[in-house]
Amino acid sequence: MKAAVLYEARQPLVVEDVELDDPKSQEVMVKIGAAGICRSDRHFMHGDAPIALPVVLGHEGAGTVEKVGPGVTSVKPGDQVILSFVPACGRCKSCVSGRSNLCDNHAATGANMYDGTCRLHKGGQEIHHMGKVACFAEHAVVPEAGVVPTGTTIPMDIAAMIGCCVPTGVGAAIYSAKIQPGSTVAVVGCGGVGLNVIMGAKLLNASQIIAVDISESQLEFAMKFGATHSVNASDRDPVAQVKDLTGGRGADYTFEVFGSADTVKAAYDMAAKSGTVTVVGIAPFGAEAAINAVDIVRNEKTMRGTYYGSARSSTDMPTMVDLYLSGKLNLDELVVRHYSLDQINEAYGDMDKGEVGRGAIMYS
Ligand SMILES: [Zn+2]
Ligand SMILES: [Zn+2]
Repeated sequence: MKAAVLYEARQPLVVEDVELDDPKSQEVMVKIGAAGICRSDRHFMHGDAPIALPVVLGHEGAGTVEKVGPGVTSVKPGDQVILSFVPACGRCKSCVSGRSNLCDNHAATGANMYDGTCRLHKGGQEIHHMGKVACFAEHAVVPEAGVVPTGTTIPMDIAAMIGCCVPTGVGAAIYSAKIQPGSTVAVVGCGGVGLNVIMGAKLLNASQIIAVDISESQLEFAMKFGATHSVNASDRDPVAQVKDLTGGRGADYTFEVFGSADTVKAAYDMAAKSGTVTVVGIAPFGAEAAINAVDIVRNEKTMRGTYYGSARSSTDMPTMVDLYLSGKLNLDELVVRHYSLDQINEAYGDMDKGEVGRGAIMYS
């Protein structure tokens, strides 16, 4: 089958034929329908985050179950499934305490399957699976715990986004920050995940949703998803602009959705007294943000990180499907560019240029 392989950081992905083994016990083979172009993959391509190489990237995906390995009971061939890049083992301390997005056994095995081996090969060489998903390929073998049935049929690109940017963004608003109705919100970074934070804030009836970005076209696009105000951070200090829009207080809830030390600090500084700062974006490995150690006490600010929107994939992804089907999440307008797998380097080039909305690789 065809896959896009990363052999070396700062080099283009190589689209070529690779071998994929059959699913082993408690594993599933999925024919990929769509894969999202997410910035998290870009960090590995740029060498900003470490990963075992060579690797097939792609962690935002959906498809159709093609084959199941021994012992698989939750899905059957033909089912439409969303892929989770944190398959929950169900047995570790994080999983049993309801924090399956932090599964310890998944963290320990990383870009390999749970038994520590790979199903992807090229000649004699093993190829790793990003997030046990590796959906920049025509097929993927993933753990049974890494597939979530949609229970219906929805467009593949929408299902793929429910594998990453939707639960990460909407989840940050509803499961992590738990925005109160009537409160004010600022979202720093309006890419795919940021737009989903905005949709989550709208869903929870925030009174004011301030989109912050450096691109005028991204800010304009954010208005379609529920932003009520926009702040162009390249015009003037974004912290001062957010304070101006909130009567000098700052926002009750701020979200950092870009992934840098500077934007973490900006999100902290633009939060109101007793405000909550939620860090969603993943900064380059080793980045540290300086926070005012007096302000956090005297103004009783809360700061927390959220991974995968603090969502539990097996129960919360179906909730996202229901929210989409009931018209509460405007996902139809989110994916604006479609590519073939052969065009994947071009797709990332478009993301780097700051094109609005989400791109997706579509498989036939
Ligand atoms: Zn992602
Ligand atoms: Zn676990």
